[in-house]
Amino acid sequence: MQSVQYAAPTTLAQATQALQGASDAKILAGGTDLLVQMKLGIREPGLIVDIKRIPELTAFTLGEHGLHLGAALTSAILHDDAQVRARYPGFMEALGLIGSSQVQGRCSAGGNLCNASPAADSVPALIVNRAVCNILGPAGERSVAVEAFTTGPGKNCLGSGEILVSIDLPLPAPRSSDAYLRFIPRTEMDIAVAGAAVALTLDAAGVCTAARVAIGAVAPTALLVPAAAEALIGTALDDTALANAAAAASAAASPITDKRGTAEYRKKVVGVLVRRAALIAKARIEADS
Ligand SMILES: Cc1cc2nc3c(=O)[nH]c(=O)nc-3n(C[C@H](O)[C@H](O)[C@H](O)COP(=O)(O)OP(=O)(O)OC[C@H]3O[C@@H](n4cnc5c(N)ncnc54)[C@H](O)[C@@H]3O)c2cc1C
Repeated sequence: MQSVQYAAPTTLAQATQALQGASDAKILAGGTDLLVQMKLGIREPGLIVDIKRIPELTAFTLGEHGLHLGAALTSAILHDDAQVRARYPGFMEALGLIGSSQVQGRCSAGGNLCNASPAADSVPALIVNRAVCNILGPAGERSVAVEAFTTGPGKNCLGSGEILVSIDLPLPAPRSSDAYLRFIPRTEMDIAVAGAAVALTLDAAGVCTAARVAIGAVAPTALLVPAAAEALIGTALDDTALANAAAAASAAASPITDKRGTAEYRKKVVGVLVRRAALIAKARIEADS
């Protein structure tokens, strides 16, 4: 068995220093993906850099500019915050679907994103909330829109020595809300056959003035689907608009066939989820008005 070095920096500077020149290093946040992959022999890092002891990576703030989320913040801590749940209900329901209470007591949204599974539940919800990823590396700081962060199954845009430091979600406009739905073959602890997130803004008459729609588990990465959003904007979310949005989402999907479902089935299901998520987001706005 290969020996593994372990570093537990307490500052970002120490973490980036530890990563420098260590081409076989892996960052450890909650470890709910990484440790499983190491056990299966999929990953064999020579160095593990545990980032959970860096205060700015495990903190969050909710203010006038929105939610600033340390990349390694334990999901359960965020989920426990009533104000965050009220502002971003869809993002919170996505995080609340990951694994179990035990998994959520360790895992992070940053880890979910960096692991880059096409079925990662939090990613469609981050996309519809216009999240921005803040990255630190040897060349300094940079920011990337979340929809550009994941580049393929298991792949992300991070370069050598780069760390995802934080994720920013702007504050939703008045009369806005979001929702996330996924379909899994079992009732618990499975990954999505298809997932859909919708964020909406309605005017006082109930007409949709802004929308974002993202789908997961039906393409190599989670996808923003502008055509689905356009089908909703300017409508009162009537049956025709919802059917058009569902059709646009199904058309954008390019799923694989595997033991969880055929490509054809996934395309159909993702449209149904978009329709239902839009109705949930609408109901949330109406309930708050
Ligand atoms: C039983 C079980 C059930 C699960 N169910 C679900 C589910 O329903 N839905 C779902 O989406 N996922 C699920 N997962 C997968 C996993 O729990 C999530 O992806 C989780 O959010 C990963 O977060 P983490 O902090 O544990 O990541 P880690 O395992 O610590 O890291 C994941 C990857 O990201 C890298 N990484 C982590 N943080 C950073 C950073 N800040 N900068 C750069 N790279 C970083 C790591 O090096 C690693 O490659 C499940 C896992 C288990 C074990």
